Amino acid sequence: MPTMLEEAVVQLDQVAAHLKLDEGVHKRLRRAQRALIVSVPTRMDDGRVEVFEGYRVQHDNSFGPTKGGIRYHPNVNLDEVTALAMLMSWKCALMGLPYGGAKGGVRCNPPAMSQGELERMTRRYTSEIVLLIGPDLDIPAPDVYTNEQTMAWMMDTYSMQRGITVPGVVTGKPVLLGGSLGRREATGRGVAFVAAEAARELKISLQGATVAVQGKGNVGGVAARLLREAGCRIVALADSKGGVHHAKGLDIPRVLQAVQEGARLAEMPDADKITNDELLALPVDILIPAALEGAIHEGNAAAVRAKLVVEGANGPTTAGADRILEQKGIRVIPDILANAGGVTVSYFEWVQDLQFYFWREEEINQRLKEIMVGAFRRVWDSAAEQRIPMRLAAMSLAVRRVAEAHRVRGLYP
Ligand code: GLU
Repeated sequence: MPTMLEEAVVQLDQVAAHLKLDEGVHKRLRRAQRALIVSVPTRMDDGRVEVFEGYRVQHDNSFGPTKGGIRYHPNVNLDEVTALAMLMSWKCALMGLPYGGAKGGVRCNPPAMSQGELERMTRRYTSEIVLLIGPDLDIPAPDVYTNEQTMAWMMDTYSMQRGITVPGVVTGKPVLLGGSLGRREATGRGVAFVAAEAARELKISLQGATVAVQGKGNVGGVAARLLREAGCRIVALADSKGGVHHAKGLDIPRVLQAVQEGARLAEMPDADKITNDELLALPVDILIPAALEGAIHEGNAAAVRAKLVVEGANGPTTAGADRILEQKGIRVIPDILANAGGVTVSYFEWVQDLQFYFWREEEINQRLKEIMVGAFRRVWDSAAEQRIPMRLAAMSLAVRRVAEAHRVRGLYP
């Protein structure tokens, strides 16, 4: 099986061929500009010292500071972080944000760690990557298993080392510390916006449309709630251990409340259980993979029966699965468009931090909607015009923009 980075590079190669990209620029974009591997010694609650491995990768900074989340997960490695950094470059370029792409992560198992252990690990990791980050340099944000609290610790660690408070060094912070209203829900809200646009194009009425969501977190949970409010029937919701299914539609606020109180979806009373493979194979209007990469692969793609797939996660569909979905006539709204709401409101947060002037939530949601719908239209129209899949259309728009920046800036020295 190819690694996530190998897949990301092959994808870039295909786009480069489609665009007839300049060979020198293509060669540069295949690699990350900078990558740092750090060791993160952490005192555990029982007194032992555990040494975690952490990374921060900056793929391309031709538009300005680099931007991207920090992931804590047992499978984090340099290959994955580099692939995710590359995806961030395309995502920021597609949305027209003045950022390059970056990503970071620490290989660890957060559910098995205490708050104290997570705090000490986060502070040491931040301190190890401190040379690479800053509001005009590289701006981290939350990703899998990191949240507002993680960002508060990162901001505090960076600020203590500088001797002044620097809110703009991270986004996705608590609102109290310069975070943005609407940031917490932004990724899920963006997923709901593009799902609604695509449904309209495909003549799927949102009223009563059936939806299956893989992932109950910051992306899947929020998208499920907002789509339900828009009239959809959320028939299934799952986390990594499986989930719940109800053909008439789940009571999403109740399910999410139980999850918040610590319930596992697979153990919820009075609901039918469902495995992840069963969820992906449901005959729904809209399928939202919003967990981890590689969820839809060559082994299960043929079973997908949704009309529309909206990628809430980064890289949830492998290249092989992509081809199968395309042959089946299933529309896929690619990750760099579908989940770009998060980094878009991160951009709003950073702008607010730099100006120390904060916006109203309605204003933020309105601006997010304009940017998401605008990007959706560009991708949809470009795909229709060229008769190509939306992923190739989105990637082409993004890569062309980055390549153009390289061309105009030229090669130093
Ligand atoms: N981790 C999120 C993503 O993959 C958000 C990144 C950010 O806000 O910088 O897009």
